[in-house]
Amino acid sequence: MSSRSGQVLVALAIVCGPVVLGQSSPTARRDFDAEYRTAVQAAKEAAGVEHLGALVRTCLLPQSGGENTTDNVPAYVADPSKAPARESWDAEPARVFDNLYFVGGKIHSSWALTTSEGILLFDTVYPYNSEPLIVGGLQKLGLDPARIRHVFISHAHGDHIGGAELLQKRYRARVVMGGADWESVERFPNRFKTMAPGRDLVATDGMPVTLGGTTVTVWTTPGHTPGTISYIFPVEDRGRRVTVVYSGGTAFNFVNNAPDPGIRNFQTYIDSQRKLAARAAAAGATVLLSNHSEFDSAVKKNRVLAGWGNGPHPYEIGAESVQRYFKVLESCARAAQIRLEQRHAGGSAARSN
Ligand SMILES: [Zn+2]
Repeated sequence: MSSRSGQVLVALAIVCGPVVLGQSSPTARRDFDAEYRTAVQAAKEAAGVEHLGALVRTCLLPQSGGENTTDNVPAYVADPSKAPARESWDAEPARVFDNLYFVGGKIHSSWALTTSEGILLFDTVYPYNSEPLIVGGLQKLGLDPARIRHVFISHAHGDHIGGAELLQKRYRARVVMGGADWESVERFPNRFKTMAPGRDLVATDGMPVTLGGTTVTVWTTPGHTPGTISYIFPVEDRGRRVTVVYSGGTAFNFVNNAPDPGIRNFQTYIDSQRKLAARAAAAGATVLLSNHSEFDSAVKKNRVLAGWGNGPHPYEIGAESVQRYFKVLESCARAAQIRLEQRHAGGSAARSN
């Protein structure tokens, strides 16, 4: 190679530099629309039929507004007659696995994991329906609510923390919640009126909670709220041990349309999905549970369970499908993040979604 052709190559490399470097160069023109379509397509392919609820909520429906920063007493607390009618939320309690029971409503779920030493309860629905659904549901199933020892609150929103104060006061249950969400409960006394447990156990990443030989491992999965937590625990399916991953927060209600922290919030969410997916894979999780029926079809599956008989358990979707669930959330969060990046890239590229 002559020194002259070498110079030409160097010059070409400089000219082509920004194109080759793509996204990392401030002068490069990103094709945001193509990036967005690729992310949504990845989510659609991962969703299959099982995870259409997650796909619709996080990729296809308009995103809900930003995180609530007000401290108002919710209408259903200020005036209990304003609470939604019972027929809009009532659902039958169900025994889902040998030692796992559903005590939630049509839309929001609560789960009871029984052990020889008492009950571990996951999420507590609203203040207006936690008593009939959880206390009443456990009794209907022949379980004693006074045996609730730990209450895990995935995140401090009224549809999951609603019964925490009641269960702590009445049964002296220990309450486990993420640190940032404990702070939120203390910062907004009106918003959490009648729901706020006294500060108790602060969840840390990888924290084991053991009762009667059953261990729940808590994973911090910030994103939906800063303190959102998720869990991995074993259940028994007709005597066979099966591992559950419980995803604690799903929708993008944290959206802040400012680039900072908006884009960063999405990255936090994406990182949490990747982390929980990896923990679920390592634990061999083949069951995915949620605190919204929308994402795990709990109420629908509970209806078929009664007459199910033998055969594969309808909740056991397999390790590969569990991974695809997290892929849907990660890809839809990336798609929304791309739109936010596009909006703040300036000029005519900006468009809303
Ligand atoms: Zn929430």
